[in-house]
Amino acid sequence: MYPSVLLQVAGVWREACGGIAHPILNPATGEEIGSHPVAAQADLDEALLAADRGFKQWRAVSPYERGQILRKSASLLRERAETIARIMTIEQGKPLAEARLEIAAGADFIDWAAEEGRRVYGRVIPARGPGVAQLVVREPVGPVAAFTPWNFPIVQAARKVASALSTGCSVILKGPEEAPASCAEMARAFLDAGVPADALSFVLGSPAEISSYLIAHPVIRKISFTGSTVVGKTLAALAGQHMKRATMELGGHAPALIFSDADLDRAVTTLAANKFRNAGQVCISPSRFLVQASVMDQFIEKFVATARQVRVGDGLDPQTTMGPLAHERRLLAMEQLVSDAREQGAEIRLGGGRFGNRGYFFEPTVIANASLDVRVMNEEPFGPIAVMRPFYDVDEAVAEANRLPFGLAAYAYTRSMSVADKLAASVECGMISINHHGLGLPENPFGGVKDSGYGSEGGSEALEGYLVSKLVSRTN
Ligand code: NAD
Repeated sequence: MYPSVLLQVAGVWREACGGIAHPILNPATGEEIGSHPVAAQADLDEALLAADRGFKQWRAVSPYERGQILRKSASLLRERAETIARIMTIEQGKPLAEARLEIAAGADFIDWAAEEGRRVYGRVIPARGPGVAQLVVREPVGPVAAFTPWNFPIVQAARKVASALSTGCSVILKGPEEAPASCAEMARAFLDAGVPADALSFVLGSPAEISSYLIAHPVIRKISFTGSTVVGKTLAALAGQHMKRATMELGGHAPALIFSDADLDRAVTTLAANKFRNAGQVCISPSRFLVQASVMDQFIEKFVATARQVRVGDGLDPQTTMGPLAHERRLLAMEQLVSDAREQGAEIRLGGGRFGNRGYFFEPTVIANASLDVRVMNEEPFGPIAVMRPFYDVDEAVAEANRLPFGLAAYAYTRSMSVADKLAASVECGMISINHHGLGLPENPFGGVKDSGYGSEGGSEALEGYLVSKLVSRTN
């Protein structure tokens, strides 16, 4: 049921040179389900040669034709969704329903990039003298190295690969070693649809070895990374050293501000659904719940009641609404965050422990009245923990929202337009969604500020990251 995982280099799906492979575990059981090849330098060299050739070939294809091929990739992904969803659930843990939605979203991202790639316009600048034409031409930046994580094996990769391909770049995609097979199926859909094999390689291995080799290599002109802030800063520094352009989609610790005039039921339903989606392993997951003091007790009570309804289990079970954490590291991180909060006097109002005795399940957890010093008020939980604190007025709420170095997503619930406007203007983040969950659509920009990174993974801004401008000034 779980496929063999291979590298794809220069049109051949194959094992790594040297034959080294690492195990892949099912997070619902902790059992080994397969292995993935570990790319050696010879594999990367071959992928780099292919990316160089593939760039020359693919950039010469018209944007119209590139769009047609990308649209076909999206269709293939949709046709194969049922098979790929099962693979994703087995290797990553999320419930099947979420895996299906992710594949549908990945296909939507590819369609969006396919269309948007046809609308990459230059401009004409009025000249100072007669007979002079000043044109700004947009060109693909060149071969791209893309590094994508395990939490959304398809969507995170689809965003980067589709944006790069739609503008005429070639890509070496380093997929997630912990959930590689569904990502490989996405690469297969692109190739089956007609993307030239040299224009898209798929590699896996030791992330640090691959990134340090590819980023420094002269063939690579752009890097795009999604993952933690700490790794992102290392890769951005390396990119800077080699003067490579970079898009960095990094960690967050999204504040959700709930005001006393809010529709509390709507706030609870929407925020809880997004807190426990993918077991909280989402960079825009609401994670610091700041609640106006007068409705704090009511909000916690409703939130806990909703969280109790989450059905934790194997993602293949249709009753399951929250699967395991994707790997053991997250389970240990959750245990440490909860015990630190408990030791520092916070109240564990729900959950707080491991669920079952096999696999990496953790209970939906609600922590109340945590002081600002507890770790979970400062570190992104990246798991099913909601931590809650009261505030008294809007200025205090904004100050707490902005206290951390992160600035990815923020949420707010209020019926006051003036409060909504003030939050939109003053919360330091790349995205804010007020009174609903409106983030992550292909047509909208997606990215952060401060330590959450730079560049965008959505909207027309996503393609900007793969384009450079050239001035052509000419006269007869
Ligand atoms: P991690 O920092 O070790 O790895 C995060 C991701 O970066 C993984 O996909 C990993 O393969 C990759 N990576 C790590 N070192 C790399 C390197 N030197 N070069 C290239 N890629 C590298 O952490 P983890 O334990 O896998 O995940 C935990 C943290 O990562 C979370 O707290 C969260 O902040 C962050 N994360 C964020 C996202 C996101 O969507 N922004 C996704 C996954 C993980």
